[in-house]
Amino acid sequence: MAEIMVIGGGIAGTAAALGLHKAGFDVTVHEAHPDSGADGGAFLSLASNGMRALAELDAAAAVAELGFPLATMRVLDEAGAQLADVPLGEHDQVLTSYRCLRRAELAECLRRLVRDRGIPIRHGARLVGLTEGPSGVTATFADGSSATAELAVGADGLNSAVRGQLDPGAPGPEYAGQRVFYGYTADAPAPSEECADRITMVRGSGAAFGYAYSPAGEAYWFARVPGPPASAAELAGTGPAQWREQLLPLLRPDRTPTADIVAATTDRLMVTNAQHLPAGGNWRGTRTVLVGDAAHAASPATGQGASMALEDAVVLAKALRDALPDADARPAALERYERLRRPRAEQNMETSAKLTASRTTTTAAPRDSAHPAPRVDDGLLRLLDWHTPLPEDGPEA
Ligand SMILES: Cc1cc2nc3c(=O)[nH]c(=O)nc-3n(C[C@H](O)[C@H](O)[C@H](O)COP(=O)(O)OP(=O)(O)OC[C@H]3O[C@@H](n4cnc5c(N)ncnc54)[C@H](O)[C@@H]3O)c2cc1C
Repeated sequence: MAEIMVIGGGIAGTAAALGLHKAGFDVTVHEAHPDSGADGGAFLSLASNGMRALAELDAAAAVAELGFPLATMRVLDEAGAQLADVPLGEHDQVLTSYRCLRRAELAECLRRLVRDRGIPIRHGARLVGLTEGPSGVTATFADGSSATAELAVGADGLNSAVRGQLDPGAPGPEYAGQRVFYGYTADAPAPSEECADRITMVRGSGAAFGYAYSPAGEAYWFARVPGPPASAAELAGTGPAQWREQLLPLLRPDRTPTADIVAATTDRLMVTNAQHLPAGGNWRGTRTVLVGDAAHAASPATGQGASMALEDAVVLAKALRDALPDADARPAALERYERLRRPRAEQNMETSAKLTASRTTTTAAPRDSAHPAPRVDDGLLRLLDWHTPLPEDGPEA
């Protein structure tokens, strides 16, 4: 059986492992983190296209048990006036509706599915070198170990070491112009409006803000604040109370619930710098291919990074499945994967960058950016459907 090593056991890597295993490959995942992985505690919204991809990997039911569903998105301006209230994706479908969940929970659930299907995950394996040869690709790890396989999948995120090995001169991630604050609180004032299954986006005067209430009444929120990046020392040395006091003055002038939610948040509050990759980077070698953030990390504004990673996993697995009996066809399969995925992934990078730029001033964003979520159209459904062959040329309209 052909062997594939996946570098990185986050969302993209575990999903790729599930897809490649389903396609009939012998897969091993090499993950840098020594145990199941630490996460700053951020949450994300997984869109219907991401849930569709999980369904094709037989993983949607397990993920649908995490977090809570989101059926609608409401948009408010700084005065609290409602600009839009729109249904989200496949809101009437249990397995493919949007979900709000913690990133660490999602990754851990996918790792459990990987282990349950008998796919080995080697923890504490941090890739430091990669060499492609005529009969295989060899990875070397920081602990001095090495592994060889027929193909390598680089799923090692924004600061990908695999990308650095493929293209040492490639530009790395850039600051996207916003700090992102995250928090959770069970003590926010009870919402005055209907909040079940709904995410509310606020175009505030000083920050773009989003919040959703879990069925247990816990508020999950984020704020994207334009300005210079937080330094490494600031990120390491600033506590939740100090971050809260930085954020509150930006929210208090608005007539929205945002300041009350943040004021009620005590210890579970964290900050990160939004980053993205420049588009147009190299995704492939002869035996190596990138997926997820390693290939096309977008700033977080569209909330599509994880869903794009899951789409990558399905398309890569289908492309290689169709080339399974013929080792000589593998480079063409990698090329096909890239041809089918790059336009959509780079479109998301561009949309997210524009949306981020529109928030880097305090000017209200145009109304047509209220609903950036890509549609799950027929072309995407066919692309993801496990039983439908991939199109020969570029993505379908
Ligand atoms: C602030 C913020 C908000 C976001 N909100 C959303 C959202 O609402 N919806 C959404 O869909 N997406 C969101 N995203 C994006 C989403 O989190 C990412 O797109 C997604 O996590 C990408 O998954 P990945 O597996 O490619 O990378 P990662 O999740 O970063 O996983 C990479 C894995 O590789 C491992 N690794 C790293 N280096 C090595 C190495 N050298 N060797 C071996 N292993 C290595 C890491 O330990 C990690 O486990 C957000 C991102 C941010 C930063």
